[in-house]
Amino acid sequence: MAEVIFALVSILAVFALAMNRASLRAWALAAAVFTLSAQMGLAHGGLHWPAFPLWSLFGWLVAGLLFAASLANIKRNYLVLPAYRALKGAMPAISETEREALEAGTVGWDAEIFSGTPNWEKLRRVAPITLTPEERAFLDGPTTELCRKLDDWRIRHELEDIPEDIWRFVCERGFLGMLISKEHGGLGFSAQAQSLVLGMIGSRSAGGVTIVMVPNSLGPGELIEKYGTPEQKAHFLPRLARGDEIPCFALTGPFSGSDAAAMRDVGIVARGKHEGRDTLGIKLTWDKRYITLAPNATLLGLAFRLFDPENHLGRGEDVGITLALIPTNHPGVEIGRRHRPGGTGFPNGPTRGHDVFVPIDWIIGGEERAGQGWRMLMSCLAAGRSISLPATSAAAAKGLLRTSTAYARIRKQFNLPIGFMEGVEEPLARMIETAYALEAARAVTAAMVSAGEKPAVISALLKYVSTERMRQSINDALDIHGGKGICDGPSNYLQGAYQMTPVTITVEGANILTRTLITFAQGALRSHPYLFTEIEALQDEDEKRGTERFARAFEDHVAFTVSNAAGALFHNLTFGLLASAPANAGDTKVWWRELARASRSFALVADAAVALLGGGLKVKQKITGRMADALTELYLLSSVLKRYDDDGRPKEDLKVVDFCARNCLYRFDQALLGVLRNFPVRWAAWAMTPLVFPLGARRRPASDAAGKAIVRAALEPGAFRDRLTRHIYLTDDPRDRVGLLDYTLAKAVACEEADKKLERAIRKGEVRRFHGNDWLAEAEAKGVLTASEARALAELRDLVARVIAVDDFAPSELARGRSPASDDNATRPEHIAAE
Ligand SMILES: Cc1cc2nc3c(=O)[nH]c(=O)nc-3n(C[C@H](O)[C@H](O)[C@H](O)COP(=O)(O)OP(=O)(O)OC[C@H]3O[C@@H](n4cnc5c(N)ncnc54)[C@H](O)[C@@H]3O)c2cc1C
Repeated sequence: MAEVIFALVSILAVFALAMNRASLRAWALAAAVFTLSAQMGLAHGGLHWPAFPLWSLFGWLVAGLLFAASLANIKRNYLVLPAYRALKGAMPAISETEREALEAGTVGWDAEIFSGTPNWEKLRRVAPITLTPEERAFLDGPTTELCRKLDDWRIRHELEDIPEDIWRFVCERGFLGMLISKEHGGLGFSAQAQSLVLGMIGSRSAGGVTIVMVPNSLGPGELIEKYGTPEQKAHFLPRLARGDEIPCFALTGPFSGSDAAAMRDVGIVARGKHEGRDTLGIKLTWDKRYITLAPNATLLGLAFRLFDPENHLGRGEDVGITLALIPTNHPGVEIGRRHRPGGTGFPNGPTRGHDVFVPIDWIIGGEERAGQGWRMLMSCLAAGRSISLPATSAAAAKGLLRTSTAYARIRKQFNLPIGFMEGVEEPLARMIETAYALEAARAVTAAMVSAGEKPAVISALLKYVSTERMRQSINDALDIHGGKGICDGPSNYLQGAYQMTPVTITVEGANILTRTLITFAQGALRSHPYLFTEIEALQDEDEKRGTERFARAFEDHVAFTVSNAAGALFHNLTFGLLASAPANAGDTKVWWRELARASRSFALVADAAVALLGGGLKVKQKITGRMADALTELYLLSSVLKRYDDDGRPKEDLKVVDFCARNCLYRFDQALLGVLRNFPVRWAAWAMTPLVFPLGARRRPASDAAGKAIVRAALEPGAFRDRLTRHIYLTDDPRDRVGLLDYTLAKAVACEEADKKLERAIRKGEVRRFHGNDWLAEAEAKGVLTASEARALAELRDLVARVIAVDDFAPSELARGRSPASDDNATRPEHIAAE
């Protein structure tokens, strides 16, 4: 018995030392104390071990070796330097553009997850949704008014463009200058306010929101605000804020898509004539495509590679990527043609120029910012990517949930609202989870940006997960709506989001690349506590300085790895029961602990992936993709738990939080399992699997019963459904295609008892429900319904007919580009036309 207690205490001591990142000296001391106590126990007859002299010898040997290893010179010569030499060629090299991207953003909660021991206070300190009275008034006033004005069908189909009155309204009301400071005539709104405004507009028209989104995202406004010269700020910002200038930003070209830094667009520094005067300037040649707002733009932000063969700027020939502002009416600028991005109707098109001469002070930030374009872009991207697409995707998910729950309760088949059928319940439950989690992540990320963060990794993972989950939600919504969702027309409220989905997936970093390369392969470099410093030290040309920096980071890194191995095993064996949770975590304490537990496992595998795959990490994209998924699930779970707290822990929402948490953790497990099963360094996978899954991958997704509970609650009009779908444009005006749904839903719920009576009578054959027969009058006449019930059901019948109606058109109405009177045969295949 004494031996068992001794062994247990020793094992716990080993865990405690490892998890608390004990120094080598502490380990040496522990080994000595262990051996000495065992010897004393043996001497006093309390402990009985076979072959003890050998054990004892081994114990002292370990203690001695650990002590020796802790001596500075030995540590340096026998541990650090061999590691330095071994890793020098193996670690991923960081290119200049990557370095600029990495250094441009900040790290935040992502680094806490990577640490394996998240500091809850850091998350709790992030502000809940807070708006100034002015921002609130803007949402309730001009934003709501704009939403009322937006007619998505007109934009997508009739005009394939944004109507003039909408342009005028957004310009006059200052929508284009939300991110421009008040000092320069803009609204100077926080990131949170911008996110909410964009979300509300996006919930009304997925294509229409782009004209507000682009000027308030990566583009001339933000670049000038952050980097412009005083003259550029004074001239352009008030004009942009008022909408006197319509901006676009051109980075992408036919041969430089995702790899934008490989652009072939070029500027040569040269002297030339501008407005009749001899001027130092740039001769520009570019070919760009996919540029949003380009057809309407008056101000073109252009990215190009700058060369200075005559060294006018004194920085050598290849100056680097540079950004300039060019009025689109400048001679030589070709602009105005349009692409057709998936029938969404927003302006998008190419721009070209050949040997266009512009003065050097058209560079954003002036001559001294020449060559700094990539860093400037990345810095803006890290913040911008956190706002626009997460806001519009979360809004789409909430809007789709709002309409789908209403439709599923109104639409009946087999005498039952389709939402009560288990097959429909499944996608609805998924949509609820998506709406809750995306809104949570949107809000917390916007609050981080409002506080000055530029979260490089979080913005990437949020962009990809919000657009991917939105894609799932729109598919679910279409399935739930059946033919009603498929047939397009003015009354279709799903097609706009459906057509916009591929655009959101592709822009601001196409999702495959964002998931597999940016979030983890590059993200790990940024968020890992030691890796970036180690790589920088390894790449340091001054070897002495490099070794010193490496030594410091490497020592901490080893303690970090040991700590995560022990922490992962400990918490996975104890099911997270002893993992940390924030103070007063209340009824979500179990999920906070699970988050801490999962974070340990993530930190261990992430560390092994970057250390063992090194330079190969970027091509092992099935591994990095799954690691990105695992990180994303932990970020979503963190956001969900924070939202629940920020919302004041409404009891009714707990079932959604539980649903989200279970699914996040299940998907997290599956992602890590996928990594370990496919990890190229097999011995490492074998070593890690028992630490991460000592009892197997035991987490299960949320149950069918849990799904039913949240769906049933969401099918009821009321506070729960309103919270799930908050911060979108809402109306119950029955003249509006979306308002009609909420209006009818309320009536359908109110009429449910009367409807049951009617259905019973129909089943018994007392009342006949056929075209040509007024079955409600019949039911009233036969005493099945009272007069007021019959009236209410008659109104409901007409409303339901409007809800489920789809549009139809004369062929000539659909033949765009031809006059209605033109010959219909013109579009028919020849052999049919001839008949
Ligand atoms: C409607 C629309 C509006 C846009 N607006 C603008 C704008 O205003 N300004 C602007 O400058 N640009 C804009 N873009 C460009 C956009 O932001 C993308 O950068 C661009 O579309 C990506 O290039 P590509 O379409 O040629 O795809 P490609 O780069 O050819 O990518 C094709 C596929 O390969 C994947 N891929 C590429 N490289 C890797 C890798 N290393 N690892 C893994 N997968 C990889 C991508 O994820 C993608 O799935 C817009 C694009 C569209 C479609």
